[in-house]
Amino acid sequence: MSSARRYDLVIIGAGLTGALIAAEATRRGRTVALIEAGQRFSFATRPAQLRHHQIFGGLMWPYVHAERDRYTDSSHQSIGVAYALESHRLKGVGGSTMQWGGRISRLMPTDFRTASLYGTGTDWPISYDELEPYYSRADWELGVSGSPHQALPPRSREYPNPGFPLSVDDAMWLPLAEQLGIAVYPSAFAINSAPFAGRSQCQAFAACAVCPSGARYSADVHVAAAERSGLCDLFDNTVARRIDLTASGAVRAVQVSSLQKQEREIQGTNYVIAAHAVESARLLLLSKCGNHSDQVGRNFMEHIYVEAGGHIANKRFYPRRGGYEVLESLAYYYGEDRRERGGMKIEFTFEQDPLSDMESHHIWGQSMARYDRKNFGRWAGIAAETEHQPNPDSRVTLDPYVADLFGDPVPHMHLAFSDIDHRTQRHARDIMQQLLGQAGVKDVVQDPLTSTSFGAHHLGTCRMSDDPDKGVVDRDCKVHGTTNLFVAGGSVFPTGGAVQPSLTIAAIALRLADHLYAA
Ligand SMILES: Cc1cc2nc3c(=O)[nH]c(=O)nc-3n(C[C@H](O)[C@H](O)[C@H](O)COP(=O)(O)OP(=O)(O)OC[C@H]3O[C@@H](n4cnc5c(N)ncnc54)[C@H](O)[C@@H]3O)c2cc1C
Ligand code: SF4
Repeated sequence: MSSARRYDLVIIGAGLTGALIAAEATRRGRTVALIEAGQRFSFATRPAQLRHHQIFGGLMWPYVHAERDRYTDSSHQSIGVAYALESHRLKGVGGSTMQWGGRISRLMPTDFRTASLYGTGTDWPISYDELEPYYSRADWELGVSGSPHQALPPRSREYPNPGFPLSVDDAMWLPLAEQLGIAVYPSAFAINSAPFAGRSQCQAFAACAVCPSGARYSADVHVAAAERSGLCDLFDNTVARRIDLTASGAVRAVQVSSLQKQEREIQGTNYVIAAHAVESARLLLLSKCGNHSDQVGRNFMEHIYVEAGGHIANKRFYPRRGGYEVLESLAYYYGEDRRERGGMKIEFTFEQDPLSDMESHHIWGQSMARYDRKNFGRWAGIAAETEHQPNPDSRVTLDPYVADLFGDPVPHMHLAFSDIDHRTQRHARDIMQQLLGQAGVKDVVQDPLTSTSFGAHHLGTCRMSDDPDKGVVDRDCKVHGTTNLFVAGGSVFPTGGAVQPSLTIAAIALRLADHLYAA
């Protein structure tokens, strides 16, 4: 069945990327079909979701469809642990921003030129300066709360909301940072520190993965804006299964199926795949599009969190009380040894305190009181978000044996590290040991790499490159060899830096919208 309407733009995926592009296109009078594999969520059910999670455990967002979301993984063969894809993404209107932490960062200008500067990774075809105006626009679209700091990349516009103050616990690190000569600053968040864009100010419930108040940005906000224009049709619970590309390189239609297996095709003038790094690559592979140089799916990157902590005697911390932890440092992002290792950002956290994560321990009543008396407020932790170098063997492929509910091959994950990644992680462990030691921790515990050591940041797989032999999309996100097919999202990152990626993802989405429909 063919949709009667022909759209200006067909977007696959209603996460941050798809939602922003849909909102921008409709603002400029274009008609949009927004195809989303997952369901819509109601804002009103967020408190119930939170209660259900706290009482029964499990996922806060009921989105997993066992047959639609099947995947296989062989990462343990190369990195020693499995990659838990399901807990690192959310399928539904708003995508992973429905449950994200909202911590925001720009890539460093040097991240765009790692090959030229350090002989590692690859250079982006675009520079920080070209992306900067879009970073600033992204700040305002998402409602970022931040404080300017000289350690952060240059910016052309102020943050829309004031930054969150340091928590009582953050302040503990200040004298130590001064003693060590490392610059620390409060992180920015896509969480309203003041009422913004019709959303409330943060109420400090510390339940940010669901955020019952809506203070934390989620991309359903931009889907709603696109729909309000009357120019956007949202097809939820609808999976894009094939891109139908003609011999001349023009997309003719997208073939989609509802979860009840009703098939139809949706046509438009331009097409954007915004299904995130795993599913965008899978869709291109299923459709035999853009893989002329065997690049689709390669260079899958994450951020590996190296974590350590320990008890500080005679100190009491108050995690998530008196403000939440916002302190970070880029002191080890650079350095003379950068040719030997990747970047890293330090986050100071006290959240590993057993009480603050009590719900996952399922400890209640008397045992909770005993546990609390013994452990509360004694634990200081540090995490280093570390860079994962692009590596062609770290990749998403189609599983030749396992299929989803439509009979399509599922994505197969295989994460791999290079020698430099091992050096980066070792270096991060040394830094953790040093910082915690200086802070007076006698029993430093270094957490091993586990399935939860990843940032849920999916990058690479459809690399941006001017050279069609080395990448999948060009500098304007157009798939090489096609005339009207674009990919946006973390999938196009040539390198991932060592910071949260979503502001860069948003900036790239806004830049693509400008490219398609000049502002
Ligand atoms: C728990 C968690 C915490 C995070 N915290 C942070 C953070 O603090 N800071 C930060 O910067 N980032 C964070 N992230 C990452 C951030 O959420 C993502 O980078 C961002 O949401 C990516 O947006 P996207 O639109 O590109 O992809 P997604 O949000 O993944 O959206 C893609 C959408 O495409 C849909 N889709 C996929 N395949 C198809 C198909 N074939 N047909 C139709 N639809 C399809 C999916 O259902 C999904 O809704 C976090 C992620 C998670 C999971
Ligand atoms: S602290 Fe509360 S209001 Fe603020 S972002 Fe988190 S859940 Fe939302």
